[in-house]
Amino acid sequence: MSMTLKDTVKLNNGLSMPRVGLGVFKVEEEEQLMSAVKAAIKHGYRSIDTAAIYGNEQWVGQAIKESGVVREELFITSKVWNADQGYNETIQAFETSLEKLGLEYLDLYLIHWPVEGEYVDTWKAIEYLYNEGKIKAIGVSNFQIHHLETLFKEGTVKPVVNQVELHPKLNQKALRDFAATYDIKIEAWAPLMQGELFKNSALNELATKHNKSVAQIVLRWHLQNDVIIIPKSTKENRIQENVDLFDFELSLEDMKRINNLNEDHRVGPNPDSFDF
Ligand code: NDP
Repeated sequence: MSMTLKDTVKLNNGLSMPRVGLGVFKVEEEEQLMSAVKAAIKHGYRSIDTAAIYGNEQWVGQAIKESGVVREELFITSKVWNADQGYNETIQAFETSLEKLGLEYLDLYLIHWPVEGEYVDTWKAIEYLYNEGKIKAIGVSNFQIHHLETLFKEGTVKPVVNQVELHPKLNQKALRDFAATYDIKIEAWAPLMQGELFKNSALNELATKHNKSVAQIVLRWHLQNDVIIIPKSTKENRIQENVDLFDFELSLEDMKRINNLNEDHRVGPNPDSFDF
């Protein structure tokens, strides 16, 4: 399976999305955010994943303007936060995000969490914005199978992406199989389990075998599973390391070994019981 950093996946509406992007959750300090985004673009990233709740859209917008890369080459994702869900609120929240980012359109806009009683109306507002041409593709985040089934019934546009917590300790096999059936791409958040995997012995053995870091082994595992990844780092050497994934390949046996690490263990909230 040969791939490069320039490779994209074809979403179900025909749009191409980079397989690897930079996540910027918890990067709230202007200078740190700007230098991370600029370093990422310098090292070949073209996709940036932000959200209204991260409080950094303004700096993401500033960094991409200063990067010197033209807008059409970039793929920018943001998300509507829970407190802003509902039809009118979502339209307003989207306009605020766009303004903070200083952009004319978003490549991808996601419902951040499936807020009960709200997410269908939120989706209808996002469909409206999509039909108006303000967003190139629309999707969801933290949706379980039953949430997706509700959208299939109530909505008119199929989400292109479901961004969920996914790493070797939570491999989301059932959700991945379901999404594949409906041509919805899975995008992993916390692809590195927020830093909690680095001592794992199987992953360290695979890192030694391939002369790569544990982070690179895990990120490569995602890519070979056809999962989109958005690892977060503010350190230039790690930002570079996290896209140096294309000069080796995990064997079927290596893949199985990582698949077997699954414990259905979350580091984040459960989408069926979150309370925010
Ligand atoms: P990640 O799994 O990407 O882990 C990030 C952590 O790993 C940071 O502490 C980082 O530290 C460290 N790290 C990154 N690269 C390396 C490396 N090569 N070697 C060693 N340590 C490394 O977690 P995130 O939660 O940040 O998830 C990624 C992105 O997903 C977020 O930034 C956000 O965009 C999105 N997200 C979406 C959510 C949702 O609900 N939709 C929820 C959570 C995240 P350092 O920065 O110091 O390098």
